[in-house]
Order: sequence, then C-alpha cells, then structure tokens
Amino acid sequence: MEAHLDPQNYYRLPWNLTDNAISWLEPTWKCNIYCEGCYRINDPRGHKSLERIKEELAVFKKYRRTDGVSIAGGDPLIHPEIVEVVRMVAESGLKPILNTNGVALTKEMLKELKAAGAKGFTFHVDSKQHRPHWKNKTEIELNELREHFAEMLHEIGGFSCAFNSTVYGDTLQYIPDLVDWAQKHIDKVHVMVFIAFRAAELDGRFDYYAGAEKVDMSKVPYIKPDDRRTDILSTEVYAAIKERFPEFDSAAYLGGTHKPDSFKWLLSGRIGTKKKIYGYVGPKFIEMAQVFHHLRHGRYLAYSDPKVHRRGRSMLLLSPFDPRLRKIAGNYFLAAIKNPLRLFSRLHYQSIMIIQPADILEDGAQNMCDGCPDMTVLDGKLVWSCRIEEPLRYGRFVHMVPHGQ
Ligand code: SF4
Repeated sequence: MEAHLDPQNYYRLPWNLTDNAISWLEPTWKCNIYCEGCYRINDPRGHKSLERIKEELAVFKKYRRTDGVSIAGGDPLIHPEIVEVVRMVAESGLKPILNTNGVALTKEMLKELKAAGAKGFTFHVDSKQHRPHWKNKTEIELNELREHFAEMLHEIGGFSCAFNSTVYGDTLQYIPDLVDWAQKHIDKVHVMVFIAFRAAELDGRFDYYAGAEKVDMSKVPYIKPDDRRTDILSTEVYAAIKERFPEFDSAAYLGGTHKPDSFKWLLSGRIGTKKKIYGYVGPKFIEMAQVFHHLRHGRYLAYSDPKVHRRGRSMLLLSPFDPRLRKIAGNYFLAAIKNPLRLFSRLHYQSIMIIQPADILEDGAQNMCDGCPDMTVLDGKLVWSCRIEEPLRYGRFVHMVPHGQ
C-alpha cells in the first residue's frame, strides 16, 4: 500500500549542493561486520590517514556550508585514530556525528569521543546485519540492542541519539513497531531513520556505461542479490506507519533530481511523552527551524542538541505560525485539564525520517536525492556516497541505457 502525498502540502527542505545541513566523511573503508544492505565493499585499502581526512574536510570547507558531518565508513569506530578524526571535525567548527554499527563502542571510547567534540551517534541496527551474538534476530528483538546503545549515550549525556534501519520487503511490516518503540524511549532517542533497500538490477533491462564504455556492473557491491524488493517507496513506509498511527504525518521532504513528485527524504517530527504523542508538527515548524538556524549560524540545521529535544513545551510557543503545532498545543492542554499531573511531565521532540535512495526510471535516468546531504569526497570532488564504488571502479558514475537502444 502506498500513500499519495502532494509535495505542495509539505516544506521542501532548503538543502542543496553547496549549502547543506550535512556532509559525509568516510575515514575508513573497513568494517567489522557485514550488512546485506551495505553499498561499500569491506575494503583492504583500509583506513585513510589523518592527512587525507584533513584534505577531504578542506574540500567541504571550500565547496559546502555544512552544519554536521556524518563520520561513516566502513565503521568509523575501528579507525585507530577516530578520536583525532572527531577532534579535527569539531575544531573545524562542524558537528561530528558518528554513523556506526556500534559493535566497537565502549564506555571509555564514548567518553574520549565526547571530550574530542562528538555531538551524536547514528547507530545502524537492522535484522540483515551479520552481528556477533545477534544473529537471526527480528527487528523487534533487536530493540534490546537499540535500547542498550540509547542507554549508553544517555548515561554519558550530551549526545544526539539516532537509529538507522534498512527497510526490506519482509521487514517493512515491523516499521510501525520500531516507531512505537521509539515513542517509549522518546526521552533518549531523538531520531529514527528508515532507508528503503536499493540495489542495481542485472536483469537485462539496462546496459551500463561509464562514459562511452560499456561496463560489467556485477563488480559493485550493490547488486540485487535475490528476488528482494528494490522498489520500496518512502510513501509506502509512510503508509505502513500511518496505518498503525492514523495521526502520523510528515512535514518536510527532499525531492528527486528527475522526478519532482518523489519524496526522497520524508521528515516527520512529533511532540509527546513516553506514554502519549500529542501530535506531529507541520511544514511551517520545520521551515522556521531551518530558516532561523541559517539566519543565526549561517547554515541549515542538522542534529539538534538533546537539550533542544527536551523543550517540547517551549516549541508550542510557535503555535501561532504552524496550525499543526496549534493542534498539538490543544491536545496537550485538553489532556492536562483531564489530568493536571501531565503538566509535570516533560514534552519531548522526536524526528522520524524515511529515505528512498536512488531510483532508476524507465528511460534509464537515475532519480537521486535533490540536495543530497550525504555527499562525500573523492579526488577533491563531491560525490554521492551511496554510489562511490562506481567512480572508484570505473573512473566515473555509471549511466544506464535501456537494453537495445
Ligand atoms: S543521493 Fe544517495 S548518498 Fe545522497 S542522500 Fe540520496 S541515498 Fe544518500
């Protein structure tokens, strides 16, 4: 089931190539586990030197205003100088956010990373990762692991806590359970991200070219491995959540580079407590957050401080500008009239993001995220991190031509 959303009803996030909330740094190409949805090869080329990382940061500085830097990989925590990498990012005035599977994370490391300036973590946890001690677990059983990571961050304090999961045809059904779990941990979990699985198909519909040269695409890691779905849409994930939580709605999006009515990033924000969600914020709220942050700091906002997420009640002061926020305020005060004790519980803000990566259209056009926040650096240029294996292998991004044309 797919929801039909009209882009006109949502705020188009203002991110673009040179002025974006986020950039993507890969200090290593090595990983300590295997994830079926991964777009990178666990690469013996290994860890990048601090010198090279510094050069890549300089490329961001030159070409791109950025608020946060996702430090990814591979798994960044196995880089032997990860604390230094975080320090370098923080010292260049950007927010370091570690995108990790969490396997290598210890309390001691967490303290060191915090002292070096780390502002948050995005843990990738899903049931198609081959993790030691967590094999053959369902998405629901993995909530125990998610809780473990959330608790670790909460105990040290001061970190943004986000969870990523790749969504497959057979795990889509569990997404509402994860949304429900996130509500029960709204005091510790600030962002949930669901990323639809994508892979290149070698079913003969397209020929692949790097420039004028036909290439054997089977060498990249993101080849469809079996009959699993590669066409899950963000609006399908949205519909699955909405079926369980009818009040669920999104507020903002990133469109596609080729298909203007696609929702490549679909962002929702909700305000509530562990027991009750009072509602979902509207487009004006997100617009105000992005625009005011840009006016004040000269950059679009990525990953707020956990203190901000705890200020759900203050956010209601913006009700005059956002009708959905007014509704949230109304729901909250009605609930408080019925039970005044509710006035003593803190209201939290939590984001839910759905990502629909590269889509291939019938004519071979590649519909990428317009204003891609996950641009990384290769040979001094900004490139899509989700497809970096193509320039690495073929010298440039591959284009597709319908077979026989
Ligand atoms: S284009 Fe690729 S790298 Fe950029 S945001 Fe979309 S999925 Fe991520």
